[in-house]
Amino acid sequence: MSNKSAPAKIKTLRCPTCRNIVLATGEDFPFCSDRCRRIDLGKWASGDYKISTPIQDPDLLEELARSNKHNRQNDDDVN
Ligand SMILES: [Zn+2]
Repeated sequence: MSNKSAPAKIKTLRCPTCRNIVLATGEDFPFCSDRCRRIDLGKWASGDYKISTPIQDPDLLEELARSNKHNRQNDDDVN
């Protein structure tokens, strides 16, 4: 007979600072480490997350650059 209890589903998230996988049971959750938590708090403190500042999300910028490239490629195809 199986007497094993079902393994608890481990929730994971990505560290907002460095994007490493973080276990929900982690001590510094949702950050992977105390260092990343401090970095994130520092961002808040220095106003990086102010709504009035321009977008500085590298992922978003990358995405925008990629879509721009796509548009350009399409233009080339038309040419
Ligand atoms: Zn991290």
